[in-house]
Amino acid sequence: MSYLFESFTGWKSYCEERKISLPESVIEYEIDQKNGSNDQIKAGLLQAYGVMKEAVKTGLEEEMTSRSGMINNGAKKVFNHPLSVLSPEFQKLISRALAAKEVNSCMGRVVAAPTAGASGILPGTLVTLQEIHGLSDEQIVEGLLVGAGIALIIEEKASLAGAVGGCQAETGSAAAMASGAIVYCLGGNTDQIFNAVAVTIQCMLGLICDPVAGLVEVPCVVRNASAAAIAFSSAQIALANVSAVIPVDECVEAMGEVGASMESRYKETAMGGLAATLTGQAISERVLIKDIEILPDEELDE
Ligand code: SF4
Repeated sequence: MSYLFESFTGWKSYCEERKISLPESVIEYEIDQKNGSNDQIKAGLLQAYGVMKEAVKTGLEEEMTSRSGMINNGAKKVFNHPLSVLSPEFQKLISRALAAKEVNSCMGRVVAAPTAGASGILPGTLVTLQEIHGLSDEQIVEGLLVGAGIALIIEEKASLAGAVGGCQAETGSAAAMASGAIVYCLGGNTDQIFNAVAVTIQCMLGLICDPVAGLVEVPCVVRNASAAAIAFSSAQIALANVSAVIPVDECVEAMGEVGASMESRYKETAMGGLAATLTGQAISERVLIKDIEILPDEELDE
């Protein structure tokens, strides 16, 4: 039944014909691919959501300075800053996305959903959604199942990897998973969920992957915050029935086409964009020297 995740139109028809929900179809697929049971799959996702919540908490409470020094407790600074241009909820959303991603950059425990580089987006959006609407963990798990289905189709038609499709494939896909999950959790119908995905992809399209010094820190951490914001805005747009005009499957195809034509220096090679700036190069040299300095003698002799 892998054809189920070849397109959004196919996924919708499959569910309509069988009169099952989007999350139920993802569970069916999981059982088909990896065995297990409905309860086991949901328990696994509940555990994953627990790790996401823990990452948010850790990023907001513990020391978060990366070895390169580029990441330095940014989430806490945003969370606690008294002068705000955002609503309190929005400030929390941004802080939480930063927090979970900073944990990743500081080598902590995260859920790579869909990748470690984009690991702040689902935690930031879902924890904030849960708080605003008083949702249960079980409802969030249903949203995560919808997000998983969205990721399967993007992987099939485009890519989830920065090295293949640029940052649109990582943070863009995570934002698409999040916006679809949000609309589902708030009772949106399938068209609204898929429209949220289409709007998100339109907003993230073309984003290159250019990590400074090859580390998943700059611009990755701040992109998790902006992608979380785009997930929220896309969900709001879709819930209000504002059409993305270009159907979701065509948006994903465009994402694949843009990713395929992107030059390799913009695909995680750290040779273009921000990584290639004077400052980016200087940081890269400094990080390299630091790495050599801390290598044990025997490794240097080899
Ligand atoms: S810039 Fe590259 S490494 Fe960083 S989050 Fe985006 S895709 Fe991942």
